[in-house]
Amino acid sequence: MLYADVIIDISAPSLDRTFQYRVPEEWEREAVTGAPVLVPFGKGNSERKGYIVSLSEEPKIDRERLKPLSRVCERGLAIEDSLVELAYWMKEHYGGTWNDALRTVIPVKAAVERHEAREVAAKKGREELLLACEEAERKHHGAKARLLRQLAEQPVVPYEVVSGKMHCGAATVRSLETAGYLAVQPKRRETRLGEGFRTELNPEQEKAAAAILQTLGAPETFLLFGVTGSGKTEVYLRVIAEVLARGEQAIVLIPEIALTYQTVMRFYRCFGDRVAFLHSRLSKGERYAISERAKRGEISVMIGPRSALFTPFPKLSLIVVDEEHEGSYKSESTPRYHARETAVRRAQMIGATVVLGSATPSLESYRRALSGEYRLLTLSRRAGGAALPKAQIVDMRREFAERNRSIFSRPLREKMEERLQKGEQIMLFLNRRGYAGFLSCRSCGEALTCPHCDVSLTAHRDGTLRCHYCGYRTRTPERCPSCGSPYLAGFGTGTQKLEELVKKEFPQARVLRMDADTTRTKDGYERLLNAFGDHRADVLIGTQMIVKGHDFGGVTLMGVLAADMSLFASDFRAAERTFQLLAQAAGRAGREDKPGEVVIQTYQPEHYAVVAAAEQDYPKFFREELAFRKALHYPPEGNLLAVLGASPDESLLAQEMKRLLEDAKEFAGERELSIGWLGPAAAGLRRTNDIYRQVIYGKHADYEALVAVKNRMEQRLLSGEVGRGCRVQFDFNPLTLY
Ligand code: ADP
Ligand code: ZN
Ligand code: ZN
Repeated sequence: MLYADVIIDISAPSLDRTFQYRVPEEWEREAVTGAPVLVPFGKGNSERKGYIVSLSEEPKIDRERLKPLSRVCERGLAIEDSLVELAYWMKEHYGGTWNDALRTVIPVKAAVERHEAREVAAKKGREELLLACEEAERKHHGAKARLLRQLAEQPVVPYEVVSGKMHCGAATVRSLETAGYLAVQPKRRETRLGEGFRTELNPEQEKAAAAILQTLGAPETFLLFGVTGSGKTEVYLRVIAEVLARGEQAIVLIPEIALTYQTVMRFYRCFGDRVAFLHSRLSKGERYAISERAKRGEISVMIGPRSALFTPFPKLSLIVVDEEHEGSYKSESTPRYHARETAVRRAQMIGATVVLGSATPSLESYRRALSGEYRLLTLSRRAGGAALPKAQIVDMRREFAERNRSIFSRPLREKMEERLQKGEQIMLFLNRRGYAGFLSCRSCGEALTCPHCDVSLTAHRDGTLRCHYCGYRTRTPERCPSCGSPYLAGFGTGTQKLEELVKKEFPQARVLRMDADTTRTKDGYERLLNAFGDHRADVLIGTQMIVKGHDFGGVTLMGVLAADMSLFASDFRAAERTFQLLAQAAGRAGREDKPGEVVIQTYQPEHYAVVAAAEQDYPKFFREELAFRKALHYPPEGNLLAVLGASPDESLLAQEMKRLLEDAKEFAGERELSIGWLGPAAAGLRRTNDIYRQVIYGKHADYEALVAVKNRMEQRLLSGEVGRGCRVQFDFNPLTLY
């Protein structure tokens, strides 16, 4: 006789426990861990949907009193046991309910829209295509040129790549078809294999690949630390080729913004139809269909953002997390999991290898690599042979003192003029990250910070400055507390303003702007990237979007404006993010024949994050930053739990959060866990949509101590003894403070 523990799929927290059911004989084969089931529930025995989370041969209570489950739905769709186990780990490790966790890892069933898959096939030889491409380039027909070049390299391209990532419209495709260069045809039935892995690796790449291959399939984690363009992707491709040769599968996590069509095509060229891509534009039905194919073994490589981690591959042996430092790997809804940590966990559970790749590793990962927990592999040079660009730091305080009130320093202006004259391209990166209305001194560059927390204070409309971390508040001073200057100002310049300034001061320049506004449409991002890539503009202005994931060979100058803006974010990770952004920006310019230059404008030219980024010296940054974290017990030198409360009733919220904290303090006291508590304080965004938010922080060296406290709080909330009328969520080691 078989018994199933079932989670009832409704979000009421009071039902967030398992209920045992008898498995009728006719369903014994289908009743596997993870299977969706229908069960009679409650007094009326109404039918409810649930998931089997474990099975046993022993009933927990008298077997006669156990109800039989009605049926197992969608036979053969059960996910692997290991994913349910992973869901359990996520629930424990990050907080939230069973249901939150199961919903995250289990593919949601949805109807698949039928549409015929098409592909674009070349109808002329490589030489002819390249000639036509040159012709199109001369006429500035960017889309045509792109498609022709791609077809010259690869005779068949999926239609969705052409119309999506490559941004070639139907008209472009049709006119090339009429001219006889290509044909649009239904996708061939047989699987296209791809040409396999062909690149000859350089010695550093070879060494890295060999180390990974040696332990492939063992639960080991590697940190592949290599500057931008050092050939990390080629190393992944090499290792994945081996995974496929063994009949196993691989997952490649990549921030969505970095998933450009060049990257898509690199994978597609090697592995053909064995590769599938997940991205946010897929419908639920399309996602579901892909995960079914993964399960049946029809695809072997899944590439996508963090949700791709839960692809139900039966023989997963490799997980790559590219740009592992990226904040987009952290989920913003419960469970607030970090895909990097969760990848390592999944790999440990099933015996798979993890490769984390980055030019600017997270402090967490580099620290683990130094301690030997991860294995460090280094690629120290650019693969194509190009030198890293030269960087110059410009002190904006001096520019100000010498009466240059413009947003462009004199060195940047000179270099821009020179580039425009030579017909070379320029990128201007406006670092607005973390911008939250802080004040800083135009004379000495100091930002006004909290005397208790070492984070910037935020200016409020009522004339106060506040710390969103501890709740400290003070009146906005008339003069700078460090130097007495009356020139205190917020940084207000946006990309739009910057665009106007560039157009005014460099009337000959053709300017493109990339920000949330200009990329709002479905393909706005690709359109801008391609327009700039085709040299239809001289200057590209943008926020962090332009420094992530895309290389433009024609760019020989990168200007970084307000480099220190992100340093002022009210947040202990501000320096790390600043370093990452600046180092990435600096890594973008130049190629083999045209070395690049970088100008970093800042009010804090001596700050270690700025200096180390200009020198592309990650270890130097790491040492300084780790010392800072150590001194204040911030992650990764300690762990931080954020408890977020929300309610439409602010005084009720304050009262309940206080009670929750008092109980947790008592609990921790009894167990001699000396947790450092902060709060409850109003969150940075105190009210949104008439919902008030408060936050409590707990710090402790040991993650598990914080898990124990979280469990206690969850228990209290579940029992309804505290937190009525409030919604409480947990966030471990948050990426930003609330
Ligand atoms: P990363 O992923 O580290 O940014 P990529 O793998 O994208 O680096 O490589 C950067 C560029 O160098 C790409 O154009 C790639 O084709 C090229 N490249 C990488 N490895 C080699 C190699 N061994 N030989 C020749 N070119 C290479
Ligand atoms: Zn000052
Ligand atoms: Zn404070």
